[in-house]
Amino acid sequence: MKRLAEIRGFAFDLDGTIWEGPRLMDGAVDLVGELRSAGLGVVFASNSSRHGAGVLVRRLAELGIHSGPGEMLAALDLAGEEVRRRMGSVRVLAVGTDELVDVLHASGHEVVADGDWPRSDAVVVGIDPHFNYDRLRVAARAVSAGAVLFAVNMDRRFPVGPGLFDPGCASLAEAVAVAGGGRPIGIGKPELPLFRAAITRLGCEARFAAMVGDSTASDIAGGRAAGMFTIWLNANHEGPPPSEVDLQVRGLEELHQLWRQSRGARD
Ligand SMILES: [Mg+2]
Repeated sequence: MKRLAEIRGFAFDLDGTIWEGPRLMDGAVDLVGELRSAGLGVVFASNSSRHGAGVLVRRLAELGIHSGPGEMLAALDLAGEEVRRRMGSVRVLAVGTDELVDVLHASGHEVVADGDWPRSDAVVVGIDPHFNYDRLRVAARAVSAGAVLFAVNMDRRFPVGPGLFDPGCASLAEAVAVAGGGRPIGIGKPELPLFRAAITRLGCEARFAAMVGDSTASDIAGGRAAGMFTIWLNANHEGPPPSEVDLQVRGLEELHQLWRQSRGARD
């Protein structure tokens, strides 16, 4: 409770934490509103491989939570820079949305057409609504010929409603890896870049920043590795919590209650 009272900024995962498919999670509006009113930093850190921050800001606003461009972080937006950091500006085969292509262009990469796969130095995989056997073939051939395989995230699935999931980015990246050989390099959570960006935006030391998320494998493991206070949203009563969990709650309403209590205890 003492550590919760000391937190200066909160980073929230989106899928399964702030929203689930087309609806907000219970208590999201009130919690975010009160944290902001108390002068605390709030950012959203999503592993989204389909949309960048702009689309996510609009979608969140439609559901009733407004955020500035500096308060939304998406793994997709890191993809171009992560490839550049490791390889420089290269020729990339993009398996994903038009937004993924835009992000790669913005970082100075040449995006090659599927038919040009032998020229590619890297393959970057995000969720691709048009993924099919032909795309799998060219991506796998490129990787087999030596292109470096990246995945915007390595989430196996993401929640879209009570008890319902959609296949995640890793399910596509793994298909490419199985046929092409090699292992995908993950870009989003639990890798550190997204957490580091969140901490920078929150403007406090990592130990005074909380990571709130439903995934122990990405939000919690990565948040701990980044030095943050980790809050696991365990709505499905899974257990036991892994050792990286600092605080476990069943939902945002419980977190709101505990945060209020921690502040009361401090004041
Ligand atoms: Mg999630």
